[in-house]
Parts: sequence; structure tokens; C-alpha cells
Amino acid sequence: MKLTVVYDNAVQKSGLRADHGFSCLIEAPDTPKILFDTGADGSILLHNMKKLDIEPKDIGIVIISHPHHDHTGGLTDIMAANRDAEFYLPHSFRGRLSARRTTKINQPCEIRPGIFTTGVLRGKEQSLVINTGRGLLVVVGCSHPGVGNILDAAARFGQVYGIIGGLHGFRQFDRLNPLSLICPCHCTQYKSKIKRLFLDRCLPCGAGLILEL
Ligand SMILES: [Zn+2]
Ligand SMILES: [Zn+2]
Repeated sequence: MKLTVVYDNAVQKSGLRADHGFSCLIEAPDTPKILFDTGADGSILLHNMKKLDIEPKDIGIVIISHPHHDHTGGLTDIMAANRDAEFYLPHSFRGRLSARRTTKINQPCEIRPGIFTTGVLRGKEQSLVINTGRGLLVVVGCSHPGVGNILDAAARFGQVYGIIGGLHGFRQFDRLNPLSLICPCHCTQYKSKIKRLFLDRCLPCGAGLILEL
């Protein structure tokens, strides 16, 4: 599978724009392209997608982790560019969508073979869990339910290999010990501390980063 960071507070590829928010594209075999979160600003999202050669029309599934503007800001623009995608929204999502197919998520479930949602944890946020050749990759928006709770919820689907996304104020760093890949993005407050502690397996995040697992 391949994961491309489309929107982040930092940027790794020239020509892309950095902004407070998060979005990434997941391409897995035999699965429609998945856009996880949409950043804060639709024009920045579409700009970065264009620079990364990602065609909005090719996206089959859009998943929103939680209804904060830095994750839902690009929704309207994506919907305008692609009326056929399927939208998976957290149960707490309010507001009307013009999309044809929307599913509200509350409980953990398998969205596509090998692609799971943790369900909305603590009424706040869902995370995506992807079965890769090396184990599970957990993709998080802001980790508001707590990274430890998210990792516990993901573990029901198998062995967790790594985590990518916003870790917010998370500081129970020993919870990351079993992981082989740690990519703190977006709102992570202790990025430099995590980098120092896990030098051998911490990957700096930024728009343009591509992970292939
Ligand atoms: Zn956020
Ligand atoms: Zn948030």
C-alpha cells in the first residue's frame, strides 16, 4: 500500500503548501483510493492534490476522522469535484452533505477487506487501520480519544506496525515502544521529543511525504 500526505502543518515537497490541518491519500491493492480527512482549506487541498498528481475524480472513498474544521475544511470542494465517492463520517458529524452515498460510523467495522475503522472512540473521533504486508498501520486525525486508546482499539484487528497522523498532546511515550514506524504529524505537540526518543523509527511528516509499506 501507498500513503501520501496531502495536507499538513509542514511541507516536504517544493510547490506544496503547508497549513494547519491534515489529509492523506491511501492507495491499497483492489481498493478504491481513500482520502482520509480533507485539511482546513479546500483550495490548498486541491492545490496540493494537483501538485501530487492526485485527481479528485479518482477518489472512491472519503473518510472523516472527526468534525473539526482542520479536517473537514476541504469536504465541500472534494464533493463538488467528485459526486460519486462514498463518504464515511463519524456519528458526531452534523450538517448536511450533498454526496450521494454517506455512511455514519459509530462502531468498529471493516470498510473494505483489510481496511478498518476503530469506530468513534469516546464519542470523539475514528481512526483508520490498514492491513499492510508488515502489520497494521494506524492513521489518525488528531488523536483526541488518546493515542493509547486508539492503539488498543486497533489491536483488535491484529499486530500494529506503525502510526501516522496528529498525536495532539500525547506524552505516554512508552506506548510507542512496540511500534516499528512512528510518523507524528499535524497537531503533535511533542514532535521533537518523540523524534529524540525513537530516532531509528520516527519519520518526519509533511505534505508530500510518501510511505510505501
Ligand atoms: Zn486537527
Ligand atoms: Zn481535532
